[in-house]
Amino acid sequence: MKELQERIKKEGIVVNQDILKVDSFINHQVDPLLMEHIGETFAEYFKNHGITKIATIESSGIAPALMTARCMGLPLIILKKQPSSILNDSLYHTQIISYTKEISYELTVASSVISEDDHVLIIDDFLANGEAATGAIRLLRKAHATIAGVGALIEKSFQPGREKLVSQGFDVYSIVRIRHMSEDGIEFIED
Ligand code: 5GP
Repeated sequence: MKELQERIKKEGIVVNQDILKVDSFINHQVDPLLMEHIGETFAEYFKNHGITKIATIESSGIAPALMTARCMGLPLIILKKQPSSILNDSLYHTQIISYTKEISYELTVASSVISEDDHVLIIDDFLANGEAATGAIRLLRKAHATIAGVGALIEKSFQPGREKLVSQGFDVYSIVRIRHMSEDGIEFIED
């Protein structure tokens, strides 16, 4: 998607060869029109996949996931990062270890919002090592749902996330794919 590529080129900050900052239009300030176009793009790609719900991990995935849910006429489930102390019987939970952020957290979903009848599309802002997406898949499967696919706004294709997910048979669709980045610039994979 050219619109997102151009925006990243213009406003993205390459912090180092692994980390891209997109705080002015995705992660801190959010551009609603761009999110709407991204939602339309995901909705078009995943339209015939029998999806019943969209899921995302709080908080950066919420805006594009909501727009996707709106375009597809489906509910959005926000998988929550919560401390273990408030876990109870009505919650499914799993631990996610983020090497990117050097933290681990508990991801939860209430049994009241998900069931075995659900076929879920997971949307997140970045796909890097695939830990967040893998954790979301594990959690949704604990809740007996099936996975329709994973959508990422920005895939850093030089990191192993896509390969991990595709090798397990998941359908991965990224709005833009970065082949390489450095302080000299960002190179995209063109479809
Ligand atoms: P993964 O689990 O695939 O390694 O990383 C996914 C999560 O880490 C995303 O939800 C995102 O919050 C964060 N992340 C990974 N790489 C980047 C990056 O380059 N920039 C930003 N802003 N977040 C990232």
